[in-house]
Amino acid sequence: MSLKQRYRMRTPSTGREIFLEAEPGKIYRDRDTGETLEVVGKVIPLAPSPSRLPFAVENLRFCNWCDQLAQKDLNDCPTCGRRMGPLGVPVPASD
Ligand SMILES: [Zn+2]
Repeated sequence: MSLKQRYRMRTPSTGREIFLEAEPGKIYRDRDTGETLEVVGKVIPLAPSPSRLPFAVENLRFCNWCDQLAQKDLNDCPTCGRRMGPLGVPVPASD
């Protein structure tokens, strides 16, 4: 398994910047305009604090134990270290 490097990429015409895991030598295009994305910079992973990583909100979830944000692909909460509940299961409201 290889760890992909995350890059900051920009769409030239709109200036919109996104983060993605890119492979060297591969061309990445903007979803909407089809333009080739420019590499703006490499993203250096700053483990272990997830709050400093450029994760999009849609890739985050709230830990059901400590209510802190965690990446959806993690099983264990990076904040409290406890195993988070399965995704998509509504948390029962507490009275
Ligand atoms: Zn937690």
